[in-house]
Amino acid sequence: MKSKTLKILKDNNNDFISGEKISNEIGMTRAGVWKHIEALREEGYDIETARGKGYKLLASADILSYEEIEPYLNTKFIGRRIIHFHSIDSTNKEAKGLASSLEEGSVLIGEEQSSGRGRLGREWISPRGKGIWMSIVLKPELEPERLSRITLIGAVSIFKALENIGIVSEIKWPNDILISKKKVGGILTEMSGELNMIHHLVMGLGINVNLDKDDIPEDLRHKASSLKIEENKKINRQRLTGDILNEFEKYYIEFKKDGSLDGVIEILRSNSALIGKEVRVISGKRERLGLARDINDRGQLLVEFEEGIESIDSGEVSIRARNGYT
Ligand code: ADP
Repeated sequence: MKSKTLKILKDNNNDFISGEKISNEIGMTRAGVWKHIEALREEGYDIETARGKGYKLLASADILSYEEIEPYLNTKFIGRRIIHFHSIDSTNKEAKGLASSLEEGSVLIGEEQSSGRGRLGREWISPRGKGIWMSIVLKPELEPERLSRITLIGAVSIFKALENIGIVSEIKWPNDILISKKKVGGILTEMSGELNMIHHLVMGLGINVNLDKDDIPEDLRHKASSLKIEENKKINRQRLTGDILNEFEKYYIEFKKDGSLDGVIEILRSNSALIGKEVRVISGKRERLGLARDINDRGQLLVEFEEGIESIDSGEVSIRARNGYT
């Protein structure tokens, strides 16, 4: 209901509109309208009140609600339902719980996550209002073997959306986005539901947009950064969210048709942070040194070890540079 009041304020082109008019349009009492105005202010909307004139929207809030992302969205189904939380434990966790009752393409976004997660249960820091912490619910009908490659679509979507706003990044196969060798974004794809039921996937995307140095714990500063830190300016989170979802849908529709990843692989290859580098391939306690050679058409990383070239799936391996993190 509050969103109706907001829409009226927005449609009114920064002019005053009386409480009475709003209350007539949405069929609520003026006290009800006042409650909406208070709630909107609470979210960060700057609304002026003047006796006898009513309300005027001076500035929108920097929040990732559907109303604020929608102007940038040109998708058919990705992001057409956005569930927005001011605070949440983990968007992936919540999305996994809700997946079976949500339409494909639904997106959960939290302004902050109190227990955001990376792979293997590692912590993902997600301070309030500074990043894009979101999860997309997907229901592709493809063999599980192909499903893990969906992560690559997420990575390329972030890369492309950054490119659209003039930010150059690199993709660290399969799930990280780097700028100047530091991680500014990551993806965590998880399956939800029983193994033998339809596969619901939840793709969590975390992007460090406007984090300041102080927002990043000291022990992560050597390997984590944000768009704001790297670009020296605040970035519009709402537009970036819309752009990522637009890019994602484009590649995802292709992928759903026949499992094709052609365009995606091309972008991964030419913007890879790994190809040509010496890497440590870590799976569990096992760690091996090799040379990252290429990414094949199935989205696997080709690594040359002493024993020969192996194709590596994006499952649970971690890839590190020979010396250091990236
Ligand atoms: P990796 O496989 O590269 O270790 P994960 O996908 O498991 O990465 O992500 C979790 C790790 O990323 C954490 O252990 C921590 O080192 C780092 N990290 C946590 N929060 C952030 C963040 N907001 N931005 C960048 N790196 C982070």
